Amino acid sequence: MVIDAVEEKKEIICRYRRLLRKAKPILEPGDARLIKRAFTISLEAHKDMRRKSGEPYIFHPLAVAEICVEEIGLGTTSIVAALLHDVVEDTDIELEDIERMFGKKIAKITDGLTKISGVFEYGTSAQAENFRKMLFTLSEDVRVILIKLADRLHNMRTLESMPRNKQLKIASETIYLYAPLAHRLGLNVIKSELEDLYLRFTDESVYEEIASKIDNTKASRNKFIKLFITPIKEELDKLNINYEIKSRPKSIHSIWSKMQKQNIPFDEVYDLFAVRLILDTPEDQEKSYCWQAYSVVTDYYTPNPDRLRDWISTPKTNGYESLHTTVMAKNGQWVEVQIRTRRMDEIAEKGYAAHWKYKDNVASHESNLEKWLVHVRELLERQDLSALEFVDDFRGNLFNEEVFVFTPRGELKTLPNGATALDFAFDIHTDVGAKCIGAKVNQKLVPINQVLKNGDQIEILTSAKQKPNEDWLRFVVSSKAKSKIRDALKEDKKTIAEEGKELLLRKLKQIKLDANNQMFERMRAYFKVNSQFDLYFKVGRGLITVNDIKRFKEFKPSSPVRSKPQINDAKGIEQEISKAKGRYDDILLIGEDMDVVEYKLAKCCSPIPGDDVFGFVTVNEGIKIHRANCPNATELLASHGNRVIKAKWTSQHEVAFLTGLKIIGADRVGLINDVSKIISEELKVNMSSISFRTDNGIFTGEIMLYVNDTRHLDFLIKKLEKVDGVVTANRFDSKNIENTNLEKVI
Ligand code: MN
Repeated sequence: MVIDAVEEKKEIICRYRRLLRKAKPILEPGDARLIKRAFTISLEAHKDMRRKSGEPYIFHPLAVAEICVEEIGLGTTSIVAALLHDVVEDTDIELEDIERMFGKKIAKITDGLTKISGVFEYGTSAQAENFRKMLFTLSEDVRVILIKLADRLHNMRTLESMPRNKQLKIASETIYLYAPLAHRLGLNVIKSELEDLYLRFTDESVYEEIASKIDNTKASRNKFIKLFITPIKEELDKLNINYEIKSRPKSIHSIWSKMQKQNIPFDEVYDLFAVRLILDTPEDQEKSYCWQAYSVVTDYYTPNPDRLRDWISTPKTNGYESLHTTVMAKNGQWVEVQIRTRRMDEIAEKGYAAHWKYKDNVASHESNLEKWLVHVRELLERQDLSALEFVDDFRGNLFNEEVFVFTPRGELKTLPNGATALDFAFDIHTDVGAKCIGAKVNQKLVPINQVLKNGDQIEILTSAKQKPNEDWLRFVVSSKAKSKIRDALKEDKKTIAEEGKELLLRKLKQIKLDANNQMFERMRAYFKVNSQFDLYFKVGRGLITVNDIKRFKEFKPSSPVRSKPQINDAKGIEQEISKAKGRYDDILLIGEDMDVVEYKLAKCCSPIPGDDVFGFVTVNEGIKIHRANCPNATELLASHGNRVIKAKWTSQHEVAFLTGLKIIGADRVGLINDVSKIISEELKVNMSSISFRTDNGIFTGEIMLYVNDTRHLDFLIKKLEKVDGVVTANRFDSKNIENTNLEKVI
C-alpha cells in the first residue's frame, strides 16, 4: 500500500476539526485547549501505529471521542479520556503523566479503561471474570463503561478488516455482554446498532436478505403510514402543541429474532415498524397530553386491550418512558403506536446521558439507576459466585422485563418477569425466603411457586420448620433468591458431608481398612465420585451404604484400574487447550485432518460442509466443530474465546452428514409418501428418522437425513418446496438451548 503522508495528515486534521465542531455546543471556557492537548498527545503516542485496515491508529480514538459526544451525549472529560484511552496501554506514557497533565479524574477514568482494555482481547480465558472487574469500575465512574461502549461500537463498525475468527469472537462478545449493557443503560440506538452489526458479521446472508426486504417494501409502507396518520394529524392539530410523527422500521436484528422466535417468514412479522408521536408539551403536563394523544389515536382505531403499556406512570428501570398501544388499521393490520414527549424520546434514544440534561426532572430515574448500581455492587461483592455464574446472573437481570408488585402495606417492589412468590419472599428478607411455605396473593392462598403478575399484592406465610431445598432453584428467577438458596444448600451439604465423613471413618476402622490417600483414591474410582467431599456426602445421604463399603472391601480389581484422566482443575484445561492449539495452530481442515485429529461435529447444530464453522477445544472430547450461527456459539466464543480454533471444510463428497429438515404445509392424502419418495428415491438420500404431525389441517414434518454439503441440501429443499401442499422446507437446529446444556458442549 502506498501511503500519501500529506493527504493522511490532512485527513487527521479534518477528523479532529469535525470532533471539535460536534463538541462545540457543550464546551466551556478552557475545554477546547484541554481537548487539543489530549489530541496532540494521542497523535504523537500512536504516530507509528496502524489499525488492521491500514489506517493511521489515531482515527480510532478520534472516532470513539466523536461517538461519546454525538451519540451518547458525554462532555469534555469523556472526550479527553476517549482520546487517551489506548495511550497508556500502547505507549510508554504512564498514568502519572496523565494525572499531571489532566488531573485526577481523567487519570482515573483512563486507568479504568486501560485495565479493561486488554482483557477482552482474543486469547485470554477469563472474560467473565474481567467483565466482573469492569463492572467494579462502574460503581466509581459510569463514564468508564460508556466510553468502553463507544470503543466497542467503533470496533464493531470497523470489524470488516479483522480476520474471520476474530470477527466471530468480537461479535459474539458484543451480543453477549455489550448489547445487554447498552440496553440496561438505556442506550437503545447503540444497542440496536450493535445487534445489527453482530448479525451482519455472523450471518451475512440473513442480514442482507432482511435488509433488502425492508428496502423493497419501503414505498408501500410509506403509503400506508401516510394514510394511517392523516386523521390523527387533524385531531392533534387541535391540541395546539407542536408535535412530530416518526415511523422507522424495527432493527434488522429484532425482526430476525422475531422470525426465529415465532418461526415465521419476513412477511408475517406484523409489527415491522411502529408509529411514534413525539409531543412538545409543557413540562408539568406531559402525562395528560400523552393520554390526550392516546385518546385521539384510539378514537379512530380500535386498540388491542392486551397491548397497552404505560411506562409513563411507571418508567422502566433503565429510564424508558413511553405510552404504547397497538391498534387495528382500516385494512385489518395491527400497528404499534408509541406516544411520548420530546424529553422522553431523547432519554429513550440516548439513555443515561440524556438524564443529565434534564437534571431537575429525573429524581426518580436517578434513584432507579442508583438502585441498579447498588444491586450490581452487591453481586460483585459475592466472592463465592464463580465468574460465569455472575455473568449469567447479570445477564438474567438485564434481559428480563420487570413485574411490579406490592407488599401488604402497599410498598412497591420490582422483580424480574416470571418471579414467583418465593422470589418475593427472598426480596423481603433472606429469612422470610428460607422459611416460606406459601403466600396469599390478593387474599388468595397460593403455593410458593406461584408466578406473580403486575399489581399483585402478596403476603408471605412462613414456618419455623421450613428449609430450602434443591427444587426451589427451579422456580425462582431473581439472582438474589438463587444465590441465597444456593448458600443454604451448600451449608446443608457441608453438614451432611461431615456426618458422612464420621460414619465412613468409623466403618473403615471397623472393617480394618487404612484410611489413607491411596485407599480414598481406590474408593473414589470404585464409587465413581469426583472428590473426597462427594464421597462423604454420598455416605452422609445414605447413597453409599454400610453394605456398599463392605462390598468394596471384598472387591478385587481384575486388572489395574485405568480410568480416563479427569480434568477438573483450571490448569489441566489450560494445558489441554495449549496442546490442541499448538497442534492446529493454523486452520483445522475438516475432512483432510479427519483421521489424524480427534474432532467431532457438534450435535447442537450439526454442521455440514459449506457451513461457516469454527473448532472448539472441549475438556474431554477433543475438538468439536460448531456452525458460526449455532445457538451455543455466542456463549462459547464470548466466554471461552481462547479455546476457539479456525476451521474450514475441504472437498469430500463421499462423506454424508446428518442434518434436520422441517417441512410445513397443508395436509393432504399421500403427501408424506410424496415427500419421502423424493428424498429417498429421486435424490438417493438416506433418512435416519422422520416424524409428521397434523394439527387442524396443517402438517409439520421433521426429517433427519444425510447430505453431502449445503449445496446438496439447498437442492433438496428446492425440490421439496415444489411438492404440492408444501409451503416451506427449512433446515432446523435444536433451538433455544438452555444454559444447562452448555456444560455438555464445552
Ligand atoms: Mn480502543
